[in-house]
Amino acid sequence: MRIFGVDETSIIRTIVSNMAQAQFTTHHGMVDILPEEAQKWQFIETVIRETARSFHFGEIRTPVLEQTPLIARGVGELTDIVSKEMFAFNRGEDQYVLRPEGTAPVARAFVQHRLEQRGGVQKLFYIGPMFRAERPQKGRQRQFHQFGAEILGSADPMADAETIAFMVTVYQKLGITNTVLKINSVGDPSSRKAYKEALQNFFQPHVCHLSPISKTRLESNPMRILDSKEEEDQPLIEDAPVITDYLSDAALEHYAAVKMHLDNLGIVYQETPRLVRGLDYYTQTAFELSSPDLGAQDALGGGGRYDLLIEEIGGQPTPAVGFASGMERLLIACEALGIQLGEPAALDVYIVTRGEAARAWALKHAPELRKMGLSVSMDYAGRSIKAQMKEANRENTRYAIIVGDTELENGEFTFRNMVESSETMLRFDEICNRFRPL
Ligand code: AMP
Repeated sequence: MRIFGVDETSIIRTIVSNMAQAQFTTHHGMVDILPEEAQKWQFIETVIRETARSFHFGEIRTPVLEQTPLIARGVGELTDIVSKEMFAFNRGEDQYVLRPEGTAPVARAFVQHRLEQRGGVQKLFYIGPMFRAERPQKGRQRQFHQFGAEILGSADPMADAETIAFMVTVYQKLGITNTVLKINSVGDPSSRKAYKEALQNFFQPHVCHLSPISKTRLESNPMRILDSKEEEDQPLIEDAPVITDYLSDAALEHYAAVKMHLDNLGIVYQETPRLVRGLDYYTQTAFELSSPDLGAQDALGGGGRYDLLIEEIGGQPTPAVGFASGMERLLIACEALGIQLGEPAALDVYIVTRGEAARAWALKHAPELRKMGLSVSMDYAGRSIKAQMKEANRENTRYAIIVGDTELENGEFTFRNMVESSETMLRFDEICNRFRPL
């Protein structure tokens, strides 16, 4: 049947294709990064790499999959962490987990490759995807990206200060200066033992008011209660004892030295006695950088000293300190502050073609222009000159070379300056000369 001279089936096909939803989409909390966005990521990554170079940190790339026990070791909450917070699966005997963070993998690599034998202190940084099975919301994804750095083999408070300086420098370079750096000390194991008891004694009489998750942590790891984001826990957390009152002399000395170094570096901080890192291998310094421009998920990054981790995973006792920062939150902060991350990618030359011979010419001559460092594109669909010019405009093209049979015969091509809308006829070698530095 025909409706107003148009085939009915073609109308139906159009309607259906307009209605069609993609059959496959990304998982909840996992996103594609398309070219316009990826260009911003590249800009940020360049700033991170440049900062790493200036602090002389070497890059480390570890696999995305690790052995589950590396990540969920000795926390006393193994099943909880693996089943609720991580993507983990078994294949035969092997237990795989998608890494939720970068520190344990770096520590594993340090031990596996005996990096301590290289002498001195190892300074490593990384950029990469991390995975956590959390409830997605703005600033919180299931696949997200972190950059981070670790100094392994130094117990010196200077290493803590340099780690913090690395993190802060990245944000400063990007123009995110309205940040709050919170710091604290979680002490050494002896300080923490006394503090944990104090926490248990404090929370025990109020156990019925704690959230279910905090209840389970009261015996195994009461410091993690202070990390709780559950609303019902907050009033109690506010009144809980602070670790600063339980720090040993050595821990206080370390903390004082870190603060002195930060003062000398001109890095402003807020001492925050309830800032803790719940896991047992964390020692001494803890810090967090947040931004009031981020909304509910306001933490840009955080870190601390973890002098006990490397021994815990089978290495020689090795003091270490590091930080991890979220790339998505960095991007959200830049957006909120109107910070432009590089220029949108422009195209140097679009070769506009009419006819098969011209297309063959374009394919053959593009490499010569590319060798000169130019970005070059052309039509791959045999479209009209008008459509090609439209595409060239859309791609922010600086110059177009227009090629048809007459141009091929004469050996001269229309060379169009797209910005100024001016044209001249030039031979190909003359066009090349235009791009050569004088
Ligand atoms: P953490 O390893 O939990 O100390 O996190 C370090 C930083 O990574 C945080 O301050 C956030 O900026 C970022 N981050 C952590 N979890 C997520 C997530 N699920 N989605 C996006 N960013 C995250």
